[in-house]
Amino acid sequence: MSLMASILRRRPALLLHLRLLSSSSTTTHLETASQQQQQRIEKILVANRGEIACRIMRTAKRLGIRTVAVYSDADRDSLHVKSADEAVHIGPPPARLSYLNASSIVEAAIRAGAQAVHPGYGFLSESSEFAQLVEDKGLTFVGPPASAIRDMGDKSASKRIMGAAGVPLVPGYHGSEQDVEHMRLEADKIGYPVLIKPTHGGGGKGMRIVQSPNDFVDSFLGAQREAAASFGINTILLEKYITQPRHIEVQIFGDKFGNVLHLYERDCSVQRRHQKIIEEAPAPCITDDFRTHLGQAAVSAAKAVGYHNAGTVEFIVDTATGHFYFMEMNTRLQVEHPVTEMIVGQDLVEWQIRVANGEPLPLSQVQVPLSGHAFEARIYAENVPKGFLPATGVLHHYHPVPPSSTVRVETGVEQGDVVSMHYDPMIAKLVVWGESRAAALVKLKDCLSKFQVAGVPTNINFLQKLANNEAFEEGDVETHFIEHHKDDLFGDPNNKVIYEEAYSAARFGAKLVAACLCDKEHSALKESQSGGPSLHPIWYTHPPFRVNHHAQSTMELEWENEYDSSSSKNLMLSITYHPDGNYFIQIGENSDHALAVKASNLGNNNFRVEAGGITMDVSLAVYTKDQIKHIHIWHGPHHHHFRQKLGLELSDEDETQHKTSFESTSHPPGTVVAPMAGLVVKVLVEDGAKVEVGQPVLVLEAMKMEHVVKATSGGFVEGLKVSAGQQVSDGSVLFRVKAQK
Ligand code: ADP
Repeated sequence: MSLMASILRRRPALLLHLRLLSSSSTTTHLETASQQQQQRIEKILVANRGEIACRIMRTAKRLGIRTVAVYSDADRDSLHVKSADEAVHIGPPPARLSYLNASSIVEAAIRAGAQAVHPGYGFLSESSEFAQLVEDKGLTFVGPPASAIRDMGDKSASKRIMGAAGVPLVPGYHGSEQDVEHMRLEADKIGYPVLIKPTHGGGGKGMRIVQSPNDFVDSFLGAQREAAASFGINTILLEKYITQPRHIEVQIFGDKFGNVLHLYERDCSVQRRHQKIIEEAPAPCITDDFRTHLGQAAVSAAKAVGYHNAGTVEFIVDTATGHFYFMEMNTRLQVEHPVTEMIVGQDLVEWQIRVANGEPLPLSQVQVPLSGHAFEARIYAENVPKGFLPATGVLHHYHPVPPSSTVRVETGVEQGDVVSMHYDPMIAKLVVWGESRAAALVKLKDCLSKFQVAGVPTNINFLQKLANNEAFEEGDVETHFIEHHKDDLFGDPNNKVIYEEAYSAARFGAKLVAACLCDKEHSALKESQSGGPSLHPIWYTHPPFRVNHHAQSTMELEWENEYDSSSSKNLMLSITYHPDGNYFIQIGENSDHALAVKASNLGNNNFRVEAGGITMDVSLAVYTKDQIKHIHIWHGPHHHHFRQKLGLELSDEDETQHKTSFESTSHPPGTVVAPMAGLVVKVLVEDGAKVEVGQPVLVLEAMKMEHVVKATSGGFVEGLKVSAGQQVSDGSVLFRVKAQK
């Protein structure tokens, strides 16, 4: 450890409150030799978009550093551009032509006069060529040395380095001999089940679990083909497949003087499609001893590759044996870094910039505090019942929870923005801190219930179910968590109890919505009668509802079941106004179900409603999309989504759109529609071809995710007009399979 770092060691730990991003500098301002040679960062270009670009700029600004954004045509008006002091246009929407275009980004940095480039996560953050290019042009790369990125990008090479440094590895084979017969013998040695992994893979692509020796050869050859197609390199490694693992990763940090420390661990076991959705720090249900060993192993791993700046060492923990093994090292700031910031009271982006500037680490290992517990929930625009497929659309209503000293909302969007098919569909990261895990979890549940998004489907309801799951509450997490708890998490549409409960809550919600509609209509009318401004009511019934004493109207709404669109319910409401200010809302024919409702407008989409002896506050959002009025209502922990047909005259073109969003089941049998908006990357059969049921017909890609569209029945493909390179919208007809030609 350098002299400078040991002086800094004596400084008292600086964990006060977790007002991270407003906290003042946590480092001293001692000059070092290397700093004097290096140009200090006064202006930084952020080579990214969305929440991470906004988050990096926030810290840079606090440090007095000017910020430069880059943007594609799709992001011209986005929040990260507005957050920057300057912005440079770098190309059209597809990432490969803009955010992945290394030379135009470096050129932009030079043109803007920036001294440094921060890559964020994703895009070019783990490209050693990009890091090298930045340094070659005399700029500072806010990240690790290019050599460390290169070494850790190859899973086999990284395992060799880690093995040599004494970091525990999953039993397996990561040699260069790739002959299938040799690999089969290696698999026998490891013992089944075995996991086959492409050495240059990512996102779980090409990975295959092999349960028995008989299946090995086919799986191995398949993985080789997929690796060659996806990554251009077909080398494979073998690992013992751990059946009940936890994913625990350690945040490490190094400076340019060879000092490395860790900032404890995060548990990221709860995943869908191999992607994390809820992360927490510290990891629940582990001993201090285990924590210490994990931290030490991570520091050894980072030292083995001459690491500096922020990095994450991922471990897989075998819950059956309690052993942990090195999985991979991510050479960048992770999406989930805020949970670490919350428990250590530090700003990791500030650390990144200071280290890049040539300063020593601001704390020593013993000074790194650990306080309380933090969760991060990733809020995505996605379609949970369709298997978490990414969703696109306009954020018609976007009211995240207000931030506080213990609640952070990291977001890159505003109300009215579009979630496009070009980039990651994450809307926000909700980060909460509490003094204990239980306290943090209470806060997480509360914030999720108040986080309002309408316009695109989101995973918020699903996250709420996760947070309320008993096993999750106990910290009993593992990577197959969602699969093992699917009955609880997805609700069984055949389960009458759950269904009835949801339905009666929805009926109640409907009454509230109706009450608010009437109230709005009524006040608009009153104001126009009294000579006040004639308001155009945004709430209106169909057919138009004239409010006068004893007036009655009906409206039809469809209540959408979030988890099962086939079980959505039509609700017929009749509404009667009484001179005492009450509305009587009745659902269906049965007048026993009528409820007296009184509503007052609190402004800003919020209403106070009295119904059946209960007073509660509700929030409402209304927008029109494809000739359908959508009504969202939030009350307590419930969120309901209702749809109302506007019954306008439709042109032929509208008719198709209308049907796809409201009556997707009305297509002729065998019709296959796009399950998400995206780009057609491959068409696998020709129009007219004979296909089997389940046969892949084409591959769609959106937001980094590939989805294979399959024939839903056997027969002949008809009307297949799309071709590779074409964009399709969600719900558009792709083809039909007919039994006969
Ligand atoms: P990628 O780089 O493609 O994301 P990783 O090596 O990070 O691949 O693995 C992705 C996920 O696969 C891990 O988070 C873990 O859930 C699972 N996994 C990886 N290795 C093993 C293993 N040996 N046994 C069981 N599950 C594994």
